[in-house]
Amino acid sequence: MTQSTLTRSWVASANGHTDFPLQNLPLGIFSLNGSAPRSGVAIGEHIFDLQAARELFDGDARRAVDAMADGQLNAFFELGRAPRVALRARLLELLAEGSNQQAQLQGLGAQVLPLAADCQMHLPAKINDYTDFYVGIEHAQNVGKLFRPDNPLLPNYKYVPIGYHGRASTIRPSGTDVRRPKGQTLPAGQTEPTFGPCARLDYELELGIWIGQGNAMGDSIAIGDAADHIAGFCLLNDWSARDIQAWEYQPLGPFLSKSFITSISPWVVTAEALEPFRKAQPARPAGDPQPLPYLLDKRDQAGGGFDIELEVLLTTAAMREQNLPAHRLTLSNTQHMYWTVAQMVAHHSVNGCQLQAGDLFGSGTLSGPAAGQFGSLLEITEGGKKPIELASGEVRKFLEDGDEIILRARCQRDGFASIGFGECRGTVVAAR
Ligand code: CA
Repeated sequence: MTQSTLTRSWVASANGHTDFPLQNLPLGIFSLNGSAPRSGVAIGEHIFDLQAARELFDGDARRAVDAMADGQLNAFFELGRAPRVALRARLLELLAEGSNQQAQLQGLGAQVLPLAADCQMHLPAKINDYTDFYVGIEHAQNVGKLFRPDNPLLPNYKYVPIGYHGRASTIRPSGTDVRRPKGQTLPAGQTEPTFGPCARLDYELELGIWIGQGNAMGDSIAIGDAADHIAGFCLLNDWSARDIQAWEYQPLGPFLSKSFITSISPWVVTAEALEPFRKAQPARPAGDPQPLPYLLDKRDQAGGGFDIELEVLLTTAAMREQNLPAHRLTLSNTQHMYWTVAQMVAHHSVNGCQLQAGDLFGSGTLSGPAAGQFGSLLEITEGGKKPIELASGEVRKFLEDGDEIILRARCQRDGFASIGFGECRGTVVAAR
């Protein structure tokens, strides 16, 4: 049974579902009516409760289910590829139309298939470390141009997958409010900072990468093995306080301008689900250097990229009151990554840094080259110079209290069921 057969599920809402048809089967951690967090699989409008259905799994698939029994996916991530693939194969059997277990599972109803709308989603894993990369070259160029019109990319960019160590303690699942941060900012034309609420609050559209099996400290993960160390993917909003960032970022990079919250979509979309949407890494423009050998692998160059459409929507409190549709800020794609996810893993570990199951990477903002494709307000409004006009008559340079940002992702290819990531939402609330 392969994805290309467009197999239907007996879970009716899965068929044609925007995000979660039978071919996706992303993993996550949920709770129902305040129960302890448990593991599940998104299928249509429902969540398939893996612990409740445990007896239907054996072998490697049972090992996978049992590794999630503690209500987080770290131990499952640590198991690596084979149990994840076995779990997927068994789920495809169980949930397909005409499955031997269809009548039994339908009889159990909400005991094994609660409505997702009745459930609360949690972070899928305990995140020990979070690293944010900067591989969206269009974003790097757009932002670089604002500061250095003649020299937007620094000389290391095409050699080093640039990144910084982010803050894991404030990563939250979709739906968590975004408290406007306070901090130091330097008003234009002044030489001394003031302290107060951020006035230039922004979003960043990123792909999140979940690390599976890690490496021992002192060892490194070879580029050819790196894909096997990735457990799955999510959407990530790297909320950014641009005024705080502008004052603090030199010489060591972002600090408090990023660490107040990072939002992620709660479902882990596996490499297997994304297999049909793999792409060759785009060829580097003539004149660009080739990656150093430790970052270069033929197989990775041939199929280490992805074709995932990425979207950002904005609603304001006034728009919601007037029932106006969300305003699309960004429509971009993962093909604007200058480095592959495998290159990020290989580079991160090449010095002997230990990666661990449940570590999270952000790709960096994934802007496209054209208007409508920019993954942050900093780029869209050129640092506040060109406000956006909304259907409500409001304008925005940066985010106001009450504004909600919604990230979405979609994979489409002829002959394959289209899949999505589920949403990553966050509403800005006033500083306190
Ligand atoms: Ca970022």
